[in-house]
Amino acid sequence: MVGSDASGSIRERSDRIARHIDRARLLAIAERLISVPSPTGNAGGALDALAEFLTGEGIAVERPQADHPKAPAVVARLSAGAAGKTLQFDGHLDTVHLPFVPFGREGETITGSGSCDMKGGTAAAVEAMLAARDSGVLGGGSILLTAHDLHEAPWGFGTQFDRLISDGVVGDAVLIPEPLSGHLPVAGRGQACWKVTIRRDGPPVHEVMRPEGAPRVIAVGAELIRRLGELDARVAAEVDPVAGRSSAFVGQVHAGELYNQDPPTCWIEGTRRWVPGKDRHAIEAEFRSLLDELAAETGTAIEAEYQLVRDAFALNLEAQAVADFRLAYESIAGSPLPTGPKPFVDDGNSVWALAGVPAITHGPRSGGQHTTGEWASVDDLVRVAHTYALTAALFCPRGS
Ligand SMILES: [Zn+2]
Repeated sequence: MVGSDASGSIRERSDRIARHIDRARLLAIAERLISVPSPTGNAGGALDALAEFLTGEGIAVERPQADHPKAPAVVARLSAGAAGKTLQFDGHLDTVHLPFVPFGREGETITGSGSCDMKGGTAAAVEAMLAARDSGVLGGGSILLTAHDLHEAPWGFGTQFDRLISDGVVGDAVLIPEPLSGHLPVAGRGQACWKVTIRRDGPPVHEVMRPEGAPRVIAVGAELIRRLGELDARVAAEVDPVAGRSSAFVGQVHAGELYNQDPPTCWIEGTRRWVPGKDRHAIEAEFRSLLDELAAETGTAIEAEYQLVRDAFALNLEAQAVADFRLAYESIAGSPLPTGPKPFVDDGNSVWALAGVPAITHGPRSGGQHTTGEWASVDDLVRVAHTYALTAALFCPRGS
């Protein structure tokens, strides 16, 4: 029970956790994870390294394939041995496809591939689990630690993590140590990317040899861009005060190879984004019917590769886990964490869309994600580990 003496008991538990956070151990985990190259699709080595580390710490590890046998996920649990809630810590160990940068340390900063996005944060989450164990603060419930591959688009689309969720490997709330430390993201847009190809029958021909009445794919492409502009204007009315507005965007268009040759294909690429509360299936169906109409009107064949990146995201600030996290954050950082938008899509979007449980994205002060200049603050990794363990100490015993 957290009653009128809440601050005192929180302080006491917080101090106990702080005494058990092992900075050297946190750094050792980070170094092990960062030292193994793990571009998206090939994160098996980094996941193996994490599994070995946890096993060495005496923590049992499961390795479900979750549709990606090349790099089985890591699933580990710390149970208090009493009823309560499950707080999940989740990290992806894959990195974007850039040249590998080995682990480095300069004073209070670590560097290397994934140090920011998000092996550093995952190491902090692992240390939080170990500190929660060593300090004995978990009065009930459990911590569930998950790590996986296939996060970074366009090489992965979150399918391994989605499979874990659909197999029931999900907590009552999830903490995700992605590189976002300055505010608590409460809303984010969903995103799909698409590539549309417009085709007419027959090969490329000289302009003057073009059969009269044959479809002109460039003109059809222009009409598609016009209609997508209309769609964008229509959905602009869908506004989330934090996340922004729904949109349809064209990023590139290609057709033709010569000024007086009639090309048989035209392709266009872009994105579709939507605010929380919109149905992603309806959005895809609307997009496809727009293409079908245009194909029928123009006598062309129009195909679309339509790829969901992640669904939209919202965080219920009334949820108990969110209140506990904010309390833990404030008691350690000394000031409340303001709310704001989620500028990217992450696994929290999948948690909210597929499992309907709160997903809090909060990680270390760090930077250089999706570049070869990644870094993370060691002091802040320690703070994240402390905050995660204290959130677990507050949330997990609830309902026991
Ligand atoms: Zn990430």
